[in-house]
Amino acid sequence: MRGTTLRRLRLASQITFFLLFVFLLLRTEFPGSVRSAGADVRVPYPVSLFLETDPLVALATALSTASLYRHLLWAVPFVLLALIVGRGFCGWMCPLGSLHHFVGSMKSERKRGPKLLESNRYKRWQSAKYYVLTVVLVMALFGSVAGLLLDPLSFLVRSMATAVLPVLNYGLRASLDWAHELPLGPARVGVSGVATVLDATVLSFRQPHFHQALAIGLLFAFVLVLNMRVTRFWCRAICPLGAMLGVVSRWSFVQLQKHDEKCNDCKRCELHCQGGDDPIPGAIWRKAECHLCMNCLGDCPEGGLSFTWSGRPGKQTRETPQLQRRAVVTSLVAGAVGLPLLRTGPGVKAAGDPLLIRPPGSVDEEHFLDRCIRCGDCMKVCPNNALHPALFEAGVEGLWSPVLVPRIGYCEPNCTLCTQVCPTGAIWEMTVAEKIGSPARMAPDGTVQQPGRDPNRIGTAFYDRGRCLPWAMGIECIVCEEWCPTSPKAIYLVPAQVTDATGQTKTVRQPYVEPKRCTGCGACEFACPIKGRPAVYVTSAGESRSKANQFLLPENQPLQRS
Ligand code: SF4
Ligand code: SF4
Ligand code: SF4
Repeated sequence: MRGTTLRRLRLASQITFFLLFVFLLLRTEFPGSVRSAGADVRVPYPVSLFLETDPLVALATALSTASLYRHLLWAVPFVLLALIVGRGFCGWMCPLGSLHHFVGSMKSERKRGPKLLESNRYKRWQSAKYYVLTVVLVMALFGSVAGLLLDPLSFLVRSMATAVLPVLNYGLRASLDWAHELPLGPARVGVSGVATVLDATVLSFRQPHFHQALAIGLLFAFVLVLNMRVTRFWCRAICPLGAMLGVVSRWSFVQLQKHDEKCNDCKRCELHCQGGDDPIPGAIWRKAECHLCMNCLGDCPEGGLSFTWSGRPGKQTRETPQLQRRAVVTSLVAGAVGLPLLRTGPGVKAAGDPLLIRPPGSVDEEHFLDRCIRCGDCMKVCPNNALHPALFEAGVEGLWSPVLVPRIGYCEPNCTLCTQVCPTGAIWEMTVAEKIGSPARMAPDGTVQQPGRDPNRIGTAFYDRGRCLPWAMGIECIVCEEWCPTSPKAIYLVPAQVTDATGQTKTVRQPYVEPKRCTGCGACEFACPIKGRPAVYVTSAGESRSKANQFLLPENQPLQRS
């Protein structure tokens, strides 16, 4: 097949996979009110598909958990694909790679004429990604997948979900509102039509906003802008998935053959090379760096290059990455000591931050950090915008893992969306019945017919009586009790006689929490009318996933010695 045809096919493949990625990301939400939807609400599309097919996510989580989560079995065909076509995934399928490809194609002063040719020659710093991969895998071996912050698909989903799409949503809504205000006459129909189309495709049901969005968005923008200096800098120097596929490509069948006799040294094959792998005759072709973009084939006017399926390397081919022993040892050591360093401070074993409220269905904290790749899918899908990227609530190691912030959004009792989209099992899938629990069923004679099931608790509510209106000021307020969704309610009101500033006594109802009924959903904190710090707040104490993070209630206390 001719080089130009292959190049067109690659472009079509990139566009198809990128659009599929964006479509699935946009569908990572429930369009409507989960509260009024009633029954078990399901995500209708396999929205985590790209993450589930990611071989690096599968390998790192398999190392950290000594098991392979069933959804990640999808990665196996992609490992086999890499054994056939090497880094073809980078050039033809990866949505982040395609974005870099697009931005890298833009003209810039730094990449003109000889400078462009020079920037597309192989550089030793391209080996950095193999050291990044080593650190990621060694840390995984010791039980943390924090390094997957740099996995390209996790990086892209998180950046798009928490920074890019919210900004886009805000901008489009503001533009539509502005257009609606214009004196357009009959043309207003056009604006309404555009609004309808955008509502059905791109716009979120409600405007989301996330903690850490600025930092995540700036990092994303920085990584994209780097392309103006070096084409696909991320893919060449940083990407640990690219490095993994580069290592595997050693066994792949596709080989570049250079026909020196046809080459007139015009160097066009280097003009648009994406990998910086030196396809030009006379130089060593770096197979592990090649994305199979086919630009060199399309650009060569003399037919001096061809790809074959022979599996037999050409004379000028280096099949393995070029690594320095000392740097490999350094990255092994960095991975081994990096984790204990990350775990200094209030991490997994320490008392824990009371604000570390994880999504319902989360596994216990130590195993959570073995699994959570910080992709942000759970945050994107949450209909109440309750889940946010953590800063240091889970220690440095837990950066950008999900935490529930009840003041912004509470956990809807009949919603299990975040449990459905987690690609790695950091949040286990559960039904609404499992989430809200059920009372024991009793026989007429008083015996237990079917034992009850506890609800899934993510924390417990506490009162700050110094700020609570009935407690601190003797003013009636029952907002928290009204919002509490459990049945029977976890918040109960007790009438009390209080004396006001004039000496008059009156009766107000003061709220209390029954911890066994409280699920930590945060609806009370969300609704509390006190501005600033709320009078009722949720901490992670009592969460179902932890044996240690429990109250010392009388029935839990060890027997006293007499
Ligand atoms: S945190 Fe609660 S409300 Fe948000 S997606 Fe998860 S289950 Fe639904
Ligand atoms: S818990 Fe959330 S951020 Fe972590 S892997 Fe699951 S979906 Fe992604
Ligand atoms: S967190 Fe508040 S609203 Fe939720 S169950 Fe507990 S007391 Fe009720």
